Amino acid sequence: MNRPTALTALTALTLTTLLTTTAAGSSTAAPAARVQKVLVIGIDGALLSKIQAFNTPALKGLISSGSASPTTLYAQPFAPTLSGPGWATIATGVWPDKHKVKSNSWGTGTNLTQYPDFLTRLERSRPELSTYAIADWTPLTTNSAGQAIFTDEVQRKVTLDGDALGWAAADAKIATDAAAYLKDSGPDASFVYFGNVDIAGHSCGAKGACYRTAVEQTDKHIATLLSAVRARPTYANEDWTYLVTADHGHTDSGGHGGSSVAERSSFIIRSGPGTTPGTPAIAPKNVDIAAIVLSRFGVAADLDGQVLPTSGDPFDSLVGSLQARADETGVPADVKGWTHTTPAGWTIDNSAMGTGGVREWQGWSFTTDDFWTRAAPNQSRESNVRARGVFAVADSDEWSDKTRSGLFNSKLTSPAHDVTGAANATLTFSSHYLKSGAETASVLVSFDGATPTPILTYTTDAIAKLERLNIPVPTGARTAKLTWSLTKGDNDWYWSIDNPQLTKN
Ligand SMILES: [Zn+2]
Repeated sequence: MNRPTALTALTALTLTTLLTTTAAGSSTAAPAARVQKVLVIGIDGALLSKIQAFNTPALKGLISSGSASPTTLYAQPFAPTLSGPGWATIATGVWPDKHKVKSNSWGTGTNLTQYPDFLTRLERSRPELSTYAIADWTPLTTNSAGQAIFTDEVQRKVTLDGDALGWAAADAKIATDAAAYLKDSGPDASFVYFGNVDIAGHSCGAKGACYRTAVEQTDKHIATLLSAVRARPTYANEDWTYLVTADHGHTDSGGHGGSSVAERSSFIIRSGPGTTPGTPAIAPKNVDIAAIVLSRFGVAADLDGQVLPTSGDPFDSLVGSLQARADETGVPADVKGWTHTTPAGWTIDNSAMGTGGVREWQGWSFTTDDFWTRAAPNQSRESNVRARGVFAVADSDEWSDKTRSGLFNSKLTSPAHDVTGAANATLTFSSHYLKSGAETASVLVSFDGATPTPILTYTTDAIAKLERLNIPVPTGARTAKLTWSLTKGDNDWYWSIDNPQLTKN
Protein backbone atom coordinates (compact mmCIF):
# COMPACT_ATOMS: atom_id res chain seq x y z
CA MET A 1 0.00 0.00 0.00
CA ASN A 2 3.07 2.20 -0.18
CA ARG A 3 3.64 4.63 -2.97
CA PRO A 4 5.31 2.70 -5.76
CA THR A 5 8.65 3.41 -7.26
CA ALA A 6 9.39 2.70 -10.89
CA LEU A 7 11.25 -0.47 -9.92
CA THR A 8 8.69 -1.99 -7.56
CA ALA A 9 5.92 -1.38 -10.07
CA LEU A 10 7.78 -3.31 -12.74
CA THR A 11 5.57 -6.19 -13.79
CA ALA A 12 6.30 -9.72 -14.76
CA LEU A 13 4.92 -8.88 -18.16
CA THR A 14 7.38 -6.07 -18.66
CA LEU A 15 10.18 -8.35 -17.56
CA THR A 16 9.17 -10.94 -20.12
CA THR A 17 9.16 -8.34 -22.87
CA LEU A 18 12.53 -7.06 -21.73
CA LEU A 19 14.13 -10.50 -21.70
CA THR A 20 12.65 -11.45 -25.05
CA THR A 21 13.86 -8.29 -26.67
CA THR A 22 17.32 -8.71 -25.22
CA ALA A 23 17.55 -12.39 -26.16
CA ALA A 24 16.56 -11.60 -29.73
CA GLY A 25 19.46 -9.18 -29.90
CA SER A 26 17.27 -6.69 -31.72
CA SER A 27 18.63 -3.75 -29.79
CA THR A 28 22.08 -2.85 -28.56
CA ALA A 29 20.86 -1.75 -25.13
CA ALA A 30 17.96 -3.14 -23.08
CA PRO A 31 15.02 -0.75 -23.11
CA ALA A 32 14.21 1.04 -19.89
CA ALA A 33 11.77 -0.83 -17.64
CA ARG A 34 8.28 0.50 -18.28
CA VAL A 35 5.75 0.95 -15.52
CA GLN A 36 2.29 -0.61 -16.00
CA LYS A 37 -0.76 1.48 -15.11
CA VAL A 38 -4.44 0.62 -15.56
CA LEU A 39 -7.40 2.99 -15.50
CA VAL A 40 -10.89 1.45 -15.56
CA ILE A 41 -13.65 3.96 -16.30
CA GLY A 42 -17.25 3.01 -15.53
CA ILE A 43 -20.10 4.92 -17.18
CA ASP A 44 -23.39 3.86 -15.62
CA GLY A 45 -26.05 3.00 -18.19
CA ALA A 46 -23.98 4.00 -21.24
CA LEU A 47 -24.67 2.48 -24.66
CA LEU A 48 -21.82 1.87 -27.12
CA SER A 49 -24.13 2.65 -30.05
CA LYS A 50 -24.74 6.13 -28.60
CA ILE A 51 -21.07 6.73 -27.80
CA GLN A 52 -20.34 5.95 -31.45
CA ALA A 53 -23.17 8.19 -32.68
CA PHE A 54 -22.48 11.22 -30.46
CA ASN A 55 -19.67 13.78 -30.25
CA THR A 56 -17.27 11.83 -28.05
CA PRO A 57 -13.69 12.50 -29.22
CA ALA A 58 -11.99 11.13 -26.09
CA LEU A 59 -13.76 7.78 -26.19
CA LYS A 60 -13.43 7.57 -29.98
CA GLY A 61 -9.71 8.20 -29.56
CA LEU A 62 -9.47 5.20 -27.23
CA ILE A 63 -11.48 3.12 -29.70
CA SER A 64 -9.35 4.09 -32.70
CA SER A 65 -6.11 3.37 -30.83
CA GLY A 66 -7.51 0.13 -29.41
CA SER A 67 -10.72 -1.85 -29.63
CA ALA A 68 -14.42 -1.62 -28.85
CA SER A 69 -16.95 -4.41 -28.74
CA PRO A 70 -20.55 -4.71 -27.63
CA THR A 71 -21.48 -7.46 -25.22
CA THR A 72 -24.68 -8.65 -23.60
CA LEU A 73 -25.51 -9.39 -19.99
CA TYR A 74 -27.68 -11.95 -18.25
CA ALA A 75 -31.34 -11.24 -17.49
CA GLN A 76 -33.80 -12.51 -14.90
CA PRO A 77 -34.11 -15.07 -13.37
CA PHE A 78 -30.27 -15.12 -13.34
CA ALA A 79 -29.99 -11.45 -12.28
CA PRO A 80 -31.72 -8.20 -13.27
CA THR A 81 -29.96 -5.68 -15.51
CA LEU A 82 -29.37 -3.32 -12.59
CA SER A 83 -26.29 -1.48 -11.33
CA GLY A 84 -25.66 -3.72 -8.31
CA PRO A 85 -25.15 -6.94 -10.25
CA GLY A 86 -23.61 -5.04 -13.17
CA TRP A 87 -20.81 -3.34 -11.24
CA ALA A 88 -20.24 -6.31 -8.94
CA THR A 89 -19.66 -8.44 -12.05
CA ILE A 90 -17.19 -5.93 -13.50
CA ALA A 91 -15.35 -5.43 -10.20
CA THR A 92 -15.12 -9.08 -9.13
CA GLY A 93 -14.67 -10.84 -12.48
CA VAL A 94 -17.35 -13.42 -11.65
CA TRP A 95 -21.04 -13.65 -12.61
CA PRO A 96 -23.91 -12.89 -10.20
CA ASP A 97 -24.48 -16.56 -9.29
CA LYS A 98 -21.05 -16.38 -7.64
CA HIS A 99 -20.84 -12.84 -6.18
CA LYS A 100 -24.58 -12.88 -5.35
CA VAL A 101 -25.19 -9.15 -5.68
CA LYS A 102 -28.59 -9.43 -7.32
CA SER A 103 -30.19 -6.06 -6.58
CA ASN A 104 -29.28 -2.46 -5.84
CA SER A 105 -29.79 -2.84 -2.09
CA TRP A 106 -27.85 -5.76 -0.75
CA GLY A 107 -26.90 -6.45 2.83
CA THR A 108 -24.71 -9.22 4.10
CA GLY A 109 -25.96 -12.02 1.87
CA THR A 110 -23.33 -11.63 -0.83
CA ASN A 111 -20.10 -13.45 -1.62
CA LEU A 112 -18.10 -10.23 -2.01
CA THR A 113 -15.73 -11.45 0.70
CA GLN A 114 -14.93 -14.55 -1.32
CA TYR A 115 -14.85 -12.60 -4.60
CA PRO A 116 -13.37 -9.16 -3.84
CA ASP A 117 -12.95 -6.34 -6.35
CA PHE A 118 -9.87 -6.28 -8.57
CA LEU A 119 -8.24 -3.39 -6.67
CA THR A 120 -8.48 -5.32 -3.40
CA ARG A 121 -7.00 -8.40 -5.06
CA LEU A 122 -4.07 -6.27 -6.23
CA GLU A 123 -3.54 -4.84 -2.73
CA ARG A 124 -3.48 -8.35 -1.24
CA SER A 125 -1.21 -9.91 -3.85
CA ARG A 126 1.11 -6.98 -4.44
CA PRO A 127 0.81 -4.53 -1.52
CA GLU A 128 3.47 -2.29 -3.04
CA LEU A 129 0.97 -1.30 -5.75
CA SER A 130 -1.18 1.79 -5.27
CA THR A 131 -4.92 1.65 -5.95
CA TYR A 132 -7.69 4.23 -6.24
CA ALA A 133 -11.48 4.17 -6.57
CA ILE A 134 -13.86 7.12 -6.83
CA ALA A 135 -17.62 6.98 -7.38
CA ASP A 136 -20.81 8.95 -6.83
CA TRP A 137 -23.16 5.96 -6.64
CA THR A 138 -22.51 5.28 -2.97
CA PRO A 139 -23.05 1.46 -2.83
CA LEU A 140 -19.94 1.04 -4.96
CA THR A 141 -17.66 2.30 -2.22
CA THR A 142 -19.68 2.40 1.03
CA ASN A 143 -22.10 -0.02 2.66
CA SER A 144 -23.27 -0.09 6.27
CA ALA A 145 -22.94 -3.88 6.33
CA GLY A 146 -19.34 -3.68 5.12
CA GLN A 147 -20.33 -5.08 1.74
CA ALA A 148 -19.36 -2.25 -0.61
CA ILE A 149 -18.31 -3.50 -4.03
CA PHE A 150 -14.88 -1.86 -3.57
CA THR A 151 -13.50 -2.69 -0.10
CA ASP A 152 -11.73 -0.48 2.42
CA GLU A 153 -8.47 -2.14 1.39
CA VAL A 154 -8.36 0.10 -1.69
CA GLN A 155 -5.56 2.54 -0.93
CA ARG A 156 -7.48 5.73 -1.73
CA LYS A 157 -11.26 5.51 -1.94
CA VAL A 158 -13.45 8.57 -2.48
CA THR A 159 -17.24 8.50 -2.16
CA LEU A 160 -19.41 11.33 -3.43
CA ASP A 161 -23.17 11.24 -3.05
CA GLY A 162 -24.74 11.89 -6.45
CA ASP A 163 -28.24 12.14 -5.00
CA ALA A 164 -27.14 14.82 -2.50
CA LEU A 165 -24.79 16.79 -4.77
CA GLY A 166 -26.72 16.50 -8.01
CA TRP A 167 -25.34 14.00 -10.49
CA ALA A 168 -23.84 16.36 -13.05
CA ALA A 169 -22.06 18.27 -10.27
CA ALA A 170 -20.91 15.06 -8.60
CA ASP A 171 -19.48 13.74 -11.87
CA ALA A 172 -17.62 17.05 -12.35
CA LYS A 173 -16.11 16.69 -8.87
CA ILE A 174 -15.05 13.15 -9.76
CA ALA A 175 -13.29 14.40 -12.88
CA THR A 176 -11.48 17.09 -10.88
CA ASP A 177 -10.37 14.77 -8.09
CA ALA A 178 -9.40 11.95 -10.43
CA ALA A 179 -7.46 14.19 -12.80
CA ALA A 180 -5.43 15.65 -9.93
CA TYR A 181 -4.76 12.27 -8.34
CA LEU A 182 -3.90 10.54 -11.61
CA LYS A 183 -1.51 13.33 -12.53
CA ASP A 184 0.22 13.77 -9.20
CA SER A 185 0.15 10.28 -7.66
CA GLY A 186 -0.41 8.06 -10.68
CA PRO A 187 -2.03 5.12 -8.91
CA ASP A 188 -1.08 1.80 -10.51
CA ALA A 189 -4.72 0.70 -10.84
CA SER A 190 -7.82 2.91 -10.66
CA PHE A 191 -11.59 2.70 -10.98
CA VAL A 192 -13.28 5.99 -11.86
CA TYR A 193 -17.07 5.97 -12.03
CA PHE A 194 -19.49 8.46 -13.60
CA GLY A 195 -23.19 8.20 -12.75
CA ASN A 196 -24.97 10.97 -14.62
CA VAL A 197 -25.52 9.14 -17.92
CA ASP A 198 -27.76 6.62 -16.15
CA ILE A 199 -29.68 9.39 -14.40
CA ALA A 200 -30.22 11.07 -17.77
CA GLY A 201 -31.38 7.79 -19.25
CA HIS A 202 -34.01 7.49 -16.55
CA SER A 203 -35.00 11.11 -17.09
CA CYS A 204 -35.33 11.37 -20.87
CA GLY A 205 -34.54 7.92 -22.28
CA ALA A 206 -31.63 6.78 -24.43
CA LYS A 207 -33.25 8.57 -27.38
CA GLY A 208 -33.63 11.81 -25.41
CA ALA A 209 -31.57 14.97 -25.73
CA CYS A 210 -30.51 14.89 -22.08
CA TYR A 211 -28.95 11.45 -22.55
CA ARG A 212 -26.84 12.78 -25.41
CA THR A 213 -25.80 15.78 -23.31
CA ALA A 214 -24.77 13.53 -20.43
CA VAL A 215 -22.77 11.15 -22.66
CA GLU A 216 -20.96 14.06 -24.31
CA GLN A 217 -20.25 15.71 -20.92
CA THR A 218 -18.87 12.44 -19.61
CA ASP A 219 -16.61 12.25 -22.65
CA LYS A 220 -15.25 15.68 -21.70
CA HIS A 221 -14.55 14.37 -18.18
CA ILE A 222 -12.70 11.43 -19.71
CA ALA A 223 -10.70 13.82 -21.90
CA THR A 224 -9.69 15.61 -18.68
CA LEU A 225 -8.49 12.34 -17.18
CA LEU A 226 -6.52 11.38 -20.29
CA SER A 227 -4.86 14.82 -20.40
CA ALA A 228 -3.92 14.52 -16.75
CA VAL A 229 -2.27 11.16 -17.40
CA ARG A 230 -0.33 12.51 -20.39
CA ALA A 231 0.87 15.44 -18.27
CA ARG A 232 2.61 13.18 -15.78
CA PRO A 233 6.36 13.91 -15.62
CA THR A 234 7.07 10.17 -15.81
CA TYR A 235 4.51 9.48 -18.57
CA ALA A 236 7.17 8.63 -21.16
CA ASN A 237 8.18 5.67 -19.01
CA GLU A 238 4.65 4.38 -18.36
CA ASP A 239 2.31 2.01 -20.24
CA TRP A 240 -1.32 2.96 -19.57
CA THR A 241 -4.12 0.48 -20.20
CA TYR A 242 -7.59 2.03 -20.44
CA LEU A 243 -10.77 0.01 -20.05
CA VAL A 244 -14.20 1.63 -20.35
CA THR A 245 -17.44 -0.22 -19.66
CA ALA A 246 -21.03 -0.02 -18.44
CA ASP A 247 -23.14 -1.98 -15.99
CA HIS A 248 -26.26 -2.23 -18.21
CA GLY A 249 -27.95 -0.38 -21.07
CA HIS A 250 -31.11 1.70 -21.34
CA THR A 251 -34.28 1.51 -23.37
CA ASP A 252 -35.11 4.23 -25.88
CA SER A 253 -37.70 5.59 -23.49
CA GLY A 254 -35.48 5.12 -20.43
CA GLY A 255 -35.12 2.32 -17.94
CA HIS A 256 -33.45 -1.03 -17.42
CA GLY A 257 -33.64 -4.10 -15.25
CA GLY A 258 -35.44 -6.22 -17.85
CA SER A 259 -34.33 -8.58 -20.58
CA SER A 260 -34.54 -6.48 -23.75
CA VAL A 261 -31.47 -6.26 -25.97
CA ALA A 262 -31.12 -2.55 -25.07
CA GLU A 263 -31.21 -3.23 -21.33
CA ARG A 264 -28.78 -6.17 -21.60
CA SER A 265 -26.35 -4.09 -23.64
CA SER A 266 -22.87 -3.38 -22.38
CA PHE A 267 -19.49 -2.89 -24.04
CA ILE A 268 -15.77 -2.93 -23.47
CA ILE A 269 -13.51 -0.25 -24.89
CA ARG A 270 -9.86 -1.15 -24.44
CA SER A 271 -6.69 0.69 -25.30
CA GLY A 272 -3.08 0.19 -24.31
CA PRO A 273 -0.51 -2.61 -24.26
CA GLY A 274 -1.85 -6.06 -25.08
CA THR A 275 -4.85 -4.68 -26.96
CA THR A 276 -5.48 -6.18 -30.37
CA PRO A 277 -6.63 -3.24 -32.51
CA GLY A 278 -10.04 -3.43 -34.16
CA THR A 279 -13.25 -5.20 -33.26
CA PRO A 280 -12.52 -8.63 -31.74
CA ALA A 281 -14.16 -11.56 -33.58
CA ILE A 282 -15.06 -13.09 -30.22
CA ALA A 283 -15.97 -10.19 -27.95
CA PRO A 284 -14.83 -10.04 -24.33
CA LYS A 285 -17.48 -10.05 -21.60
CA ASN A 286 -17.83 -7.85 -18.55
CA VAL A 287 -16.25 -10.46 -16.26
CA ASP A 288 -13.07 -10.13 -18.33
CA ILE A 289 -12.32 -6.58 -17.11
CA ALA A 290 -11.02 -7.78 -13.74
CA ALA A 291 -9.03 -10.57 -15.39
CA ILE A 292 -7.40 -8.12 -17.80
CA VAL A 293 -6.51 -5.70 -14.96
CA LEU A 294 -4.97 -8.44 -12.82
CA SER A 295 -3.03 -9.83 -15.77
CA ARG A 296 -1.35 -6.46 -16.33
CA PHE A 297 0.23 -6.89 -12.89
CA GLY A 298 0.94 -10.62 -13.13
CA VAL A 299 -1.69 -11.47 -10.50
CA ALA A 300 -3.61 -14.74 -10.94
CA ALA A 301 -7.12 -15.41 -9.62
CA ASP A 302 -9.79 -18.05 -10.21
CA LEU A 303 -12.35 -15.92 -12.06
CA ASP A 304 -15.03 -16.41 -14.68
CA GLY A 305 -13.19 -13.69 -16.58
CA GLN A 306 -10.49 -14.51 -19.11
CA VAL A 307 -7.76 -12.44 -20.71
CA LEU A 308 -8.06 -14.18 -24.09
CA PRO A 309 -11.62 -15.50 -24.29
CA THR A 310 -11.12 -17.45 -27.52
CA SER A 311 -8.38 -19.79 -26.42
CA GLY A 312 -8.97 -23.26 -27.78
CA ASP A 313 -12.77 -23.33 -28.11
CA PRO A 314 -13.40 -25.37 -31.29
CA PHE A 315 -16.86 -23.86 -31.78
CA ASP A 316 -15.45 -20.33 -32.08
CA SER A 317 -13.83 -21.43 -35.34
CA LEU A 318 -17.34 -21.23 -36.85
CA VAL A 319 -17.67 -17.47 -36.43
CA GLY A 320 -17.18 -16.97 -40.17
CA SER A 321 -19.83 -19.59 -41.05
CA LEU A 322 -22.73 -17.95 -39.21
CA GLN A 323 -25.83 -17.22 -41.25
CA ALA A 324 -28.80 -14.89 -41.09
CA ARG A 325 -32.17 -16.25 -39.98
CA ALA A 326 -33.99 -18.91 -42.01
CA ASP A 327 -37.31 -19.70 -40.27
CA GLU A 328 -36.88 -17.59 -37.13
CA THR A 329 -38.95 -14.43 -37.00
CA GLY A 330 -37.78 -12.74 -33.79
CA VAL A 331 -34.20 -12.13 -34.95
CA PRO A 332 -33.47 -9.11 -37.17
CA ALA A 333 -32.56 -10.11 -40.73
CA ASP A 334 -29.07 -8.56 -40.46
CA VAL A 335 -28.01 -10.58 -37.38
CA LYS A 336 -25.89 -13.56 -38.43
CA GLY A 337 -25.82 -16.18 -35.72
CA TRP A 338 -26.49 -19.81 -36.60
CA THR A 339 -25.03 -22.65 -38.63
CA HIS A 340 -25.18 -26.42 -39.00
CA THR A 341 -21.61 -26.44 -40.26
CA THR A 342 -19.44 -28.36 -37.78
CA PRO A 343 -15.89 -27.55 -36.67
CA ALA A 344 -13.19 -29.69 -38.32
CA GLY A 345 -13.53 -33.32 -37.23
CA TRP A 346 -16.88 -32.88 -35.47
CA THR A 347 -20.02 -34.68 -36.66
CA ILE A 348 -23.77 -34.39 -36.09
CA ASP A 349 -25.98 -37.50 -36.31
CA ASN A 350 -29.57 -36.53 -37.14
CA SER A 351 -30.57 -39.97 -38.48
CA ALA A 352 -33.28 -40.34 -35.82
CA MET A 353 -34.42 -36.71 -36.02
CA GLY A 354 -38.05 -35.85 -36.71
CA THR A 355 -38.79 -33.90 -39.86
CA GLY A 356 -39.75 -30.28 -40.44
CA GLY A 357 -39.61 -27.80 -37.60
CA VAL A 358 -37.70 -24.52 -37.39
CA ARG A 359 -34.72 -24.98 -39.68
CA GLU A 360 -32.15 -23.22 -37.49
CA TRP A 361 -32.68 -25.73 -34.69
CA GLN A 362 -33.03 -29.00 -36.66
CA GLY A 363 -30.66 -31.10 -34.59
CA TRP A 364 -27.57 -29.71 -32.88
CA SER A 365 -26.77 -26.20 -34.15
CA PHE A 366 -24.10 -23.61 -33.49
CA THR A 367 -25.23 -20.14 -32.48
CA THR A 368 -24.42 -16.98 -30.51
CA ASP A 369 -25.97 -15.32 -27.49
CA ASP A 370 -27.17 -12.41 -29.61
CA PHE A 371 -29.01 -14.65 -32.10
CA TRP A 372 -30.24 -17.33 -29.71
CA THR A 373 -31.64 -15.01 -27.04
CA ARG A 374 -33.41 -12.84 -29.63
CA ALA A 375 -35.02 -15.98 -31.06
CA ALA A 376 -36.93 -16.51 -27.81
CA PRO A 377 -36.41 -13.95 -25.01
CA ASN A 378 -37.34 -14.50 -21.38
CA GLN A 379 -36.87 -18.26 -21.36
CA SER A 380 -33.59 -18.31 -19.41
CA ARG A 381 -31.43 -18.46 -22.52
CA GLU A 382 -29.99 -15.16 -21.18
CA SER A 383 -28.63 -17.11 -18.19
CA ASN A 384 -26.14 -18.98 -20.39
CA VAL A 385 -23.36 -16.66 -19.23
CA ARG A 386 -20.50 -19.16 -19.28
CA ALA A 387 -20.85 -19.77 -23.01
CA ARG A 388 -18.88 -17.40 -25.20
CA GLY A 389 -18.66 -16.56 -28.84
CA VAL A 390 -20.12 -19.47 -30.81
CA PHE A 391 -21.63 -22.33 -28.82
CA ALA A 392 -23.66 -25.48 -29.57
CA VAL A 393 -27.36 -25.86 -28.81
CA ALA A 394 -29.93 -28.64 -29.00
CA ASP A 395 -33.08 -26.55 -28.82
CA SER A 396 -36.04 -28.89 -29.17
CA ASP A 397 -38.28 -26.10 -27.88
CA GLU A 398 -37.59 -23.61 -30.66
CA TRP A 399 -37.40 -26.42 -33.25
CA SER A 400 -40.98 -27.36 -32.33
CA ASP A 401 -42.33 -23.89 -33.10
CA LYS A 402 -43.01 -24.83 -36.73
CA THR A 403 -44.87 -27.85 -38.07
CA ARG A 404 -42.81 -30.98 -37.51
CA SER A 405 -43.21 -34.69 -37.09
CA GLY A 406 -41.47 -36.96 -34.63
CA LEU A 407 -39.17 -35.92 -31.82
CA PHE A 408 -35.79 -34.22 -31.46
CA ASN A 409 -33.05 -36.87 -31.56
CA SER A 410 -29.59 -35.51 -32.32
CA LYS A 411 -26.02 -36.36 -31.38
CA LEU A 412 -22.96 -34.13 -31.55
CA THR A 413 -19.65 -36.01 -31.58
CA SER A 414 -16.10 -34.72 -31.14
CA PRO A 415 -13.03 -35.75 -33.10
CA ALA A 416 -10.93 -38.59 -31.65
CA HIS A 417 -8.72 -37.37 -28.82
CA ASP A 418 -5.45 -39.12 -28.07
CA VAL A 419 -5.61 -40.81 -24.65
CA THR A 420 -2.66 -43.16 -25.14
CA GLY A 421 -1.02 -44.08 -21.84
CA ALA A 422 -3.44 -42.13 -19.65
CA ALA A 423 -5.22 -43.72 -16.69
CA ASN A 424 -7.80 -40.93 -16.64
CA ALA A 425 -8.94 -38.04 -18.75
CA THR A 426 -10.81 -34.88 -17.70
CA LEU A 427 -13.63 -33.45 -19.79
CA THR A 428 -14.60 -29.83 -19.16
CA PHE A 429 -17.32 -27.82 -20.89
CA SER A 430 -19.86 -25.15 -20.02
CA SER A 431 -23.40 -26.46 -19.89
CA HIS A 432 -26.78 -24.78 -19.75
CA TYR A 433 -29.66 -27.26 -19.62
CA LEU A 434 -33.30 -26.96 -18.64
CA LYS A 435 -34.93 -30.28 -17.83
CA SER A 436 -38.53 -30.97 -18.72
CA GLY A 437 -40.59 -33.81 -20.08
CA ALA A 438 -39.24 -37.19 -21.18
CA GLU A 439 -36.11 -36.15 -23.07
CA THR A 440 -32.69 -37.53 -22.20
CA ALA A 441 -29.57 -35.33 -22.20
CA SER A 442 -26.39 -37.37 -21.91
CA VAL A 443 -22.65 -37.19 -22.49
CA LEU A 444 -21.13 -40.43 -23.74
CA VAL A 445 -17.59 -41.62 -24.40
CA SER A 446 -16.33 -44.12 -26.96
CA PHE A 447 -12.82 -45.57 -26.79
CA ASP A 448 -11.25 -46.76 -30.06
CA GLY A 449 -14.62 -46.85 -31.84
CA ALA A 450 -16.43 -49.06 -29.31
CA THR A 451 -20.11 -48.52 -28.43
CA PRO A 452 -20.43 -45.17 -26.55
CA THR A 453 -21.23 -45.39 -22.85
CA PRO A 454 -22.83 -42.59 -20.79
CA ILE A 455 -20.64 -40.64 -18.37
CA LEU A 456 -23.31 -38.04 -17.47
CA THR A 457 -27.11 -38.02 -17.76
CA TYR A 458 -28.97 -35.00 -16.46
CA THR A 459 -31.88 -35.55 -14.09
CA THR A 460 -32.23 -31.86 -13.21
CA ASP A 461 -31.39 -28.37 -14.54
CA ALA A 462 -27.80 -27.25 -15.08
CA ILE A 463 -27.78 -23.44 -15.14
CA ALA A 464 -24.64 -21.81 -16.54
CA LYS A 465 -22.64 -24.72 -15.14
CA LEU A 466 -19.00 -25.57 -15.72
CA GLU A 467 -18.90 -29.36 -15.97
CA ARG A 468 -15.72 -31.18 -15.01
CA LEU A 469 -15.96 -34.93 -15.52
CA ASN A 470 -13.30 -37.49 -14.70
CA ILE A 471 -13.24 -40.31 -17.25
CA PRO A 472 -11.32 -43.53 -16.46
CA VAL A 473 -9.39 -44.65 -19.54
CA PRO A 474 -9.36 -48.44 -20.17
CA THR A 475 -5.92 -50.01 -20.28
CA GLY A 476 -4.50 -49.88 -23.78
CA ALA A 477 -7.08 -47.40 -25.14
CA ARG A 478 -5.65 -44.98 -27.68
CA THR A 479 -8.49 -42.63 -28.64
CA ALA A 480 -11.66 -41.22 -27.11
CA LYS A 481 -14.62 -39.54 -28.80
CA LEU A 482 -17.21 -37.60 -26.82
CA THR A 483 -20.88 -37.41 -27.77
CA TRP A 484 -23.51 -34.95 -26.51
CA SER A 485 -26.89 -36.58 -27.08
CA LEU A 486 -30.36 -35.09 -26.71
CA THR A 487 -33.08 -37.65 -27.44
CA LYS A 488 -36.89 -37.61 -27.27
CA GLY A 489 -36.76 -33.80 -27.11
CA ASP A 490 -40.13 -32.08 -27.49
CA ASN A 491 -41.50 -28.56 -27.13
CA ASP A 492 -39.79 -28.34 -23.75
CA TRP A 493 -36.58 -26.34 -23.32
CA TYR A 494 -33.05 -26.90 -24.56
CA TRP A 495 -29.39 -27.73 -23.90
CA SER A 496 -26.38 -25.57 -24.70
CA ILE A 497 -22.72 -26.55 -24.40
CA ASP A 498 -19.52 -24.63 -25.10
CA ASN A 499 -15.74 -24.90 -25.06
CA PRO A 500 -15.38 -28.70 -24.66
CA GLN A 501 -11.85 -29.71 -23.69
CA LEU A 502 -10.44 -33.17 -22.97
CA THR A 503 -7.11 -33.46 -21.17
CA LYS A 504 -5.14 -36.59 -20.32
CA ASN A 505 -4.02 -37.10 -16.75
ZN1 LIG B 1 -30.27 3.12 -13.68
